[in-house]
Amino acid sequence: MIAPVKPPPTYAWEPTTDFLAAKYGLPRESIVRFDVNTSPLPPDLREVLTGSFDPALCEYPPSDYAALVAAAAVAYGVGADELLPTAGADEALDLIARASLREGSVAVVATPTYAMYRIVSEQRGASVLEVPRLGPEEGFRLDIVALAKAARGAQIVWLCEPNNPTGVSEPPERIGELLAVLESDAAVDGREAPTVAVDEAYAEFVGRSVLPLRYDYPKLVVVRTLSKAHALAGARVGFAVARPETLAPIVSFRAPASVGTVSAALATASLSRPELAAGNVARIAEQRTRLLSELAELGWRPYPSQSNFILIRFSSPKSAAAAAETLLRCGLVPRTFGSGHPFADCLRLTVRSAQENDRLIEAARGIPA
Ligand code: PMP
Repeated sequence: MIAPVKPPPTYAWEPTTDFLAAKYGLPRESIVRFDVNTSPLPPDLREVLTGSFDPALCEYPPSDYAALVAAAAVAYGVGADELLPTAGADEALDLIARASLREGSVAVVATPTYAMYRIVSEQRGASVLEVPRLGPEEGFRLDIVALAKAARGAQIVWLCEPNNPTGVSEPPERIGELLAVLESDAAVDGREAPTVAVDEAYAEFVGRSVLPLRYDYPKLVVVRTLSKAHALAGARVGFAVARPETLAPIVSFRAPASVGTVSAALATASLSRPELAAGNVARIAEQRTRLLSELAELGWRPYPSQSNFILIRFSSPKSAAAAAETLLRCGLVPRTFGSGHPFADCLRLTVRSAQENDRLIEAARGIPA
């Protein structure tokens, strides 16, 4: 008899809005998602949705996504042959894992970070070496020496820049430093350097990218998304960006036309009008400053953030869980970290609109830090 397929490691969300509305007896529209690092309002792209699509919706999108790729090439300052459109950053992460890893491979992950790097690596049969980031007093920076050591037997190193959930960005020269060490170690050992995947889902909030480093380190793959600064999470559009020779094996793993025509049109329009995402980033930065100071005034302990979310430390995992429950009763959904997670005593909260943040601050008044 063939053994049943073991379910793979998979991603866990907080409960859905409908579930929480029913559980807490709240109107559906009163629930605000502070858990998923999305933007408070979508861009006004009505003209895209009311116009006609080319090709029409009865056809598949063009296999080269020429218009989307052209807009992204300008927005990211790369060549059209360096871009692979994907169904969100998550599809890019999965394709990079497929192209780089197989049973017995090793993947290095700088933790705590976004859960998907471990998940997509383990789904490919790779083992994951976790390299903890430095502590909060050192700004959660990368431990470059430990990363380089772990990477000696690895096929891929996953980095998140700026990092989710710590919210901070590595000083740019340090990523370059790490890549140089990886390159020289590989040369000394006489092996190929590992792929380095840098997930820049939140890069627009910091205003810089490691993309220029792809000339020094050809196995660099950068992941971008329209879900965060572009406020189009529902469209599901992202990119893998790399030198053409690095991108080619990743391209082979994508299902035909995984980005829909409507999504591609929305993303093309948003990338072509950079003032839309820039306005969103500016509004969020203003609200982030305000949230950080008002929460701190209440005695909460938020860490500094350069992203559209804030990590907050409570006195214990129990008080973090109690804070989460009180917020949920008010219809405000925080991101929690399971017990055993290094941030089990923390919550992560997305920076949202002024009115939504007002509700958060009001609810936080009654919650002990
Ligand atoms: N990378 C990081 C670091 C994220 O936080 C997220 C979403 N929470 C993603 C990727 C997934 O992005 P997308 O919506 O583009 O799949």
